[in-house]
Amino acid sequence: MIKIVTLIGARPQIIKAAALSRAIKTNYPKLINEIIVHTGQHYDHAMSEVFFKQLGIPEATYNMGVGSGSHGIQTAKMLEQTEAILIKENPQYLVVYGDTNSTLAGALAAVKLKIPVVHIEAGLRSFNKEMPEEINRIACDHVSTLLFSPTKTGINNLLREGFRLNNEGPFTPDNPGLFHCGDIMYDNTLYFTQRALKESQIIERLGLTPDRFILCTIHRDHNTDNTKEFVQLFEALIQTSESLGMPIILPAHPRTIKAIQERLPKTLVDKLESGENLRIVAPLDFFDMIAMEHHCRFIMTDSGGVQKEAYFLKKDVVILRNETEWVEVVESGHGFIVGTDPEKIHSTVKQITNQTNHSFPSLFGDGKAAQFICNEMLKNLTA
Ligand code: UDP
Repeated sequence: MIKIVTLIGARPQIIKAAALSRAIKTNYPKLINEIIVHTGQHYDHAMSEVFFKQLGIPEATYNMGVGSGSHGIQTAKMLEQTEAILIKENPQYLVVYGDTNSTLAGALAAVKLKIPVVHIEAGLRSFNKEMPEEINRIACDHVSTLLFSPTKTGINNLLREGFRLNNEGPFTPDNPGLFHCGDIMYDNTLYFTQRALKESQIIERLGLTPDRFILCTIHRDHNTDNTKEFVQLFEALIQTSESLGMPIILPAHPRTIKAIQERLPKTLVDKLESGENLRIVAPLDFFDMIAMEHHCRFIMTDSGGVQKEAYFLKKDVVILRNETEWVEVVESGHGFIVGTDPEKIHSTVKQITNQTNHSFPSLFGDGKAAQFICNEMLKNLTA
């Protein structure tokens, strides 16, 4: 029996962790003992606890309760506490996901304790170091022992940075193992969609008509922390809704709520409060989110995960950023990078409403990424 520590902190990591915990419970209950550690980066019920219950994630053994703070303070607190937990638990691996401050802190703590780091969602790059996430993912990749990339693009990015493919184990931080394994989020979409569509009542609760609304999420700091971009974006969203005669539903991240309160002029806030075109709702649980993604006309988002889920659920997605790590979605003809430029948003929405491409070839694996990852972790210990 090996022991692994899974470190999570933010909503998307909690959701991704569900797939690995499920694979362990189903296929390796006697071989892998997983200890879940929550940094508390996201702490609201709707951003954290709700997912543990709904997705069947085992309760966290440790919760650091770090909460919000500047990048430095948050990362430092997590680093200190992760180190203490890793010394106590002494696992064979530390598993981290994606690109948050929790990912960075965990990777740094573990590598210096000579505990191998397993990075899930390795190799993704935006080539924009103004994004804190880009710094976190580059730093994490370069101290990891096992790197699992969901896409070929991720593997190619790593090869360009000096990593090698097909080298022999045992893998170490100086001889890291690189794997193209498919997307762990796709595992979840395949596993939960039917159940979500059966159990969720969000469409009725919000009084929506399937295919007659647009789903939108915004939370990247480039959009929320910049008044000009934020106001421009909200104006463009309201115009989009008016021109299509369809409501836009925006389940708002806490950072977005704060930006609405602090950055939007009263005229725009009044429009939001009327709820006619752009409706702000509380963050959704995962089943409600899947149901909304499934039933909407198309999606507008600056989220990484939601871009992919749009593709999994065969929807076009307007990417409210100036670049994306998920270039496959753009290349497929279903993802459109527009930033916050009202003109680009307007013309893209027009293009989407006339979309003739209905093919969504498989790009993200076979729904068994988590199982593959467990296998490789076990294999490396006997290599
Ligand atoms: N999500 C959710 N409820 C919401 C918004 C998003 O369950 O109200 C899920 C979404 O389905 C996806 C994940 O959260 O699985 C994406 O996380 P987020 O957008 O916060 O982060 P990112 O993917 O950009 O890192």
